[in-house]
Amino acid sequence: MSYSLKWDLEGIFKGGSQSAELAAKLQRISESLAVYKEEVKNFSPIKEKQEMSQLVSILDKTEEIEKAVSQVVAFLECLTAQDIHDTKADQLNGEAYSLISEFQTAFTGFTIKLVQIDEALWGELLEDPALSEIAFYLNEKREQGKEQLSEAEEALINALKVDGYIGWSTHYDSLVKTIQIPDTDKDGEEVLLSAGQAFNKMMDDPDPKVRADLFVKWEKVWHEKAPLFADTLNHLGGFRLADYKAHGVTDFMKEPLQYNRMKKETLDVMWDVIAKNKQPFVDFLNRKAQIFGKEKLSWVDVDAPIVTTEPKRYSYDEGAKFIIDNFSKFGVELPKFAEQAFENAWIEAEDRPGKRPGGFCTSFPETNESRIFMTYAGSPSGVATLAHELGHAFHSHVLNGKPFFNTEYAMNVAETASTFAEQICSDASVRAAESDAEKITLLDTKIQNAIAMFMNIHARYIFETNFYKERQKGLVSAERLDELMENAQKESYKDALSEYHPSFWASKLHFYIAEVPFYNFPYTFGYLFSLGIYHLSLKEGKAFEEKYIALLQDTAAMTTEELALKHLGVDLTKPDFWQAGVDLAIADVEEFLELTK
Ligand SMILES: [Zn+2]
Repeated sequence: MSYSLKWDLEGIFKGGSQSAELAAKLQRISESLAVYKEEVKNFSPIKEKQEMSQLVSILDKTEEIEKAVSQVVAFLECLTAQDIHDTKADQLNGEAYSLISEFQTAFTGFTIKLVQIDEALWGELLEDPALSEIAFYLNEKREQGKEQLSEAEEALINALKVDGYIGWSTHYDSLVKTIQIPDTDKDGEEVLLSAGQAFNKMMDDPDPKVRADLFVKWEKVWHEKAPLFADTLNHLGGFRLADYKAHGVTDFMKEPLQYNRMKKETLDVMWDVIAKNKQPFVDFLNRKAQIFGKEKLSWVDVDAPIVTTEPKRYSYDEGAKFIIDNFSKFGVELPKFAEQAFENAWIEAEDRPGKRPGGFCTSFPETNESRIFMTYAGSPSGVATLAHELGHAFHSHVLNGKPFFNTEYAMNVAETASTFAEQICSDASVRAAESDAEKITLLDTKIQNAIAMFMNIHARYIFETNFYKERQKGLVSAERLDELMENAQKESYKDALSEYHPSFWASKLHFYIAEVPFYNFPYTFGYLFSLGIYHLSLKEGKAFEEKYIALLQDTAAMTTEELALKHLGVDLTKPDFWQAGVDLAIADVEEFLELTK
């Protein structure tokens, strides 16, 4: 057995970004879109059930275009990742995105017309076998349609967004590119680090002095430009609030919750359980401080490695075997799928220059395939990443054959299958550790993840909530943003650190993503949701897999609360399920504290 380290993309479109097949495909999509726009324009809200075929026809075309566009965009994503210099792929990407924007405008017009269908007739239509399976999706679109203003007003807002909203988000990227952190390299030469380079060194360098020195420079540089970032954040948030107001929305949490198909009660109880369980994580931070010979950890020490021993290394084939073997302990379908992904060369894992950093999984809805991108270096965290991405691919796999509208799951459940798969492997790595020292290193990595979810992301949520409260009343100054951030961090880390990161609101990209406000709590939700499922699978054994697959298949077909109730029999607005997930993370902390006594 020797698996390919490179993926096969030729089976999707032959010839990479120069592909004639791909060019022809884009051309066909553009033609279908022209027909689609005409049909939507001529569609008048139907008055009786006999006219239903008009509605079904538009929905069929919607699905067809969305699938085709996704197929192309996924392919282009693979091309730009495997070769960052593939400018032709970038250019095609631009073309694909302008098609998407055209499609979205047409589709919004369609949802506005859905609202005009009489309530009783609407109910009748959804019971028809042609539509009943996608009833949740249609209801959701119709509800969203109800909040829309007129077609002309929505078109105007969309046009203004380009420069007034998305523009601020891209302006953020331009500002970050001007960030240069002065530093000295190994030979004592003066160098200027980009934000990304400085961040990695500051958080991961084994030498505490290197981390601390860099942190001072880091804060200083972001601080100097803070007024520019404050402008950007204020205008992004201001546009958002003005947009809500135009739509009669006064609660700034409405959109993020709606987007994640969940209730405020659920979110509140999740944070509440976390807030009540901070002590073990504070104990962990204190113990880690002790190991580093400090009274308290600084912000930049939290993720720093405890160098005790180099963990075991896995060749690519060994990593694959480790994953498949451990997946087998949890069921039949998951390992079978993973083995096929390796055999069919769905994974790009080679360590070579010119690749984009990071990892992702993308799916091809027209051919029911997935591709995984990463750079595999043989560490246990590399194996965990591979397992994580295979989890995403498995999620897409079990959705094959479902209507495309039922495959578009929200951010909070998007990480369910991946975290679950990763958890299986990271737990197995800890069990396979050959010494206590190795076990400590591996546990530390696992707990860092929990700290990120329960403390770092919690701080982001508290900050963003307080920012919007103040932004509703007017502009928020850079000094005040620093204050809000530091207070949020102190609250969420329970004062366990010696030093915080006040300019984090400027340095963290996630606060500047247009279209996705509160790009934070879905992470913690997904992590805990998945740990809760993992907890159930440990209790129920291999028989759990069937239930697990059924749950994944419904991830985009109901609200999050309905999903948990139907498949797990749990009420997400109650603390028990969340507590079970937190307890798993606490068990890791306890083991760590025991081993490092
Ligand atoms: Zn993921």
